[in-house]
Amino acid sequence: MERKLKIVTENCPQNHKCPAVKVCPVGALTQEGFEAPTINYDKCISCSKCSNFCPKKALVL
Ligand code: SF4
Repeated sequence: MERKLKIVTENCPQNHKCPAVKVCPVGALTQEGFEAPTINYDKCISCSKCSNFCPKKALVL
């Protein structure tokens, strides 16, 4: 089974624009204000770019 990306909201300080949103090659991450980002599973290809990028380990694959 394909690995599925998860958001660990307690790891996300939710006080800044999520830089991982721009790292995603398929636009699967969106962010409302400074909230933790949300994942569009129809778009996500489990590439791990965002999970490797997030310094807080809030995106886990
Ligand atoms: S795993 Fe890749 S495709 Fe999925 S949300 Fe993260 S960066 Fe985007």
